[in-house]
Amino acid sequence: MSERFVGSKRNIDELTSPEFAALVKGNPLVILPIGATEEHGSHLPLGTDSMQCEEVVSRVADEFGALVLPPVRYGECRTTRNFPGTLSLRSETVQSLVTDIVGELARNGVRRVLVLSGHAGSGHMAAIRLGVQNVVGDHPDLKVMVLSDYDIAYDLAGKEFPKDDGHAGQIETSRMLGIRPDLVGRTRPVGKTRPPRYMILSDPERHIPTGVMGDSRGSSAEKGGRIDKHITENLCELIARNFGLRRMVDKARGRNPRR
Ligand SMILES: [Zn+2]
Repeated sequence: MSERFVGSKRNIDELTSPEFAALVKGNPLVILPIGATEEHGSHLPLGTDSMQCEEVVSRVADEFGALVLPPVRYGECRTTRNFPGTLSLRSETVQSLVTDIVGELARNGVRRVLVLSGHAGSGHMAAIRLGVQNVVGDHPDLKVMVLSDYDIAYDLAGKEFPKDDGHAGQIETSRMLGIRPDLVGRTRPVGKTRPPRYMILSDPERHIPTGVMGDSRGSSAEKGGRIDKHITENLCELIARNFGLRRMVDKARGRNPRR
């Protein structure tokens, strides 16, 4: 193995083909980060979902010596579609993309895959799950875990942020203040209205005039740090349990994965 790789995390697109082949023989966890290019209010960048996800992936990869795939920075974004800057993929594109990438990993002998999405739209997540489903039937020994980091962040609803916090609200503003404060504007928009439940609309943005669902006031880098720590810790526990892997720190101490 080349001396270029002394660290514990490896970006797959920085490896050579023989290096990749040698690492895959060790049955590593391979992580696919998926984000979005999507409106996030007047104060957060279009890449918010991508950057948050990639931050968590970087931390988790360090814990398990995982291989990290080049991120997908697009997703299916239905509600914010008509705001300037949202570049939404079709649901079938997301599904095909995931099927192709996970299928290619399986063909290359990868057996442990985590797909983490920073965008949590229900149609987007369904497309990712269907995309994985298309592959696992042909590879019974392939283990794939799919979730959004928001699935874990919402454990803290009512503690770190209001229960109705959502898109570009306090969670996202705080997390971005923690990881990329240079990209966060000074305004703290509030959006208390939502599209009517169960309605399929051509103009959902009419119901969220600020482009925010929640209240971004009260956001802070410290809060963002606590949310990211909570996500990382819980995700590490899930990975240890679902893949039977040990964290670097536990390996060093001779501990078994927590059950
Ligand atoms: Zn977001």
